Amino acid sequence: MLRAYNYQCAICGYDLKYDSISIGLEAAHVKWKQYGGPCIVNDGLALCLLHHSAFDMRAIGLDSYLKMKISSGVNGHQMVEKLFWDFEGKNILLPRIKEDYLHDRFVEWHLREVFRK
Ligand SMILES: [Zn+2]
Repeated sequence: MLRAYNYQCAICGYDLKYDSISIGLEAAHVKWKQYGGPCIVNDGLALCLLHHSAFDMRAIGLDSYLKMKISSGVNGHQMVEKLFWDFEGKNILLPRIKEDYLHDRFVEWHLREVFRK
């Protein structure tokens, strides 16, 4: 999963390593496991802790073209501008291998059931 995304956050490209160990990077479910989301690369994203948390907390989402959506509830100062609003409408980083791409149905589920405009 993390390998598919080259050990980088799919949103911001964060890729801190300590020697060869990634720090602060997680595999995120797009369709949640408790709602039947499978543990496969096509239902996952590599996200930094911050973007993973915001993604699960409904603050950010993806449209069907895999462009970033930011909830109107997201607010804060400079760092929030940089880490969230600057990515609005931008494409996420995609895996190198096409078979690893997110499946539309999981992206649609997250947009419908999780993301709040
Ligand atoms: Zn990130």
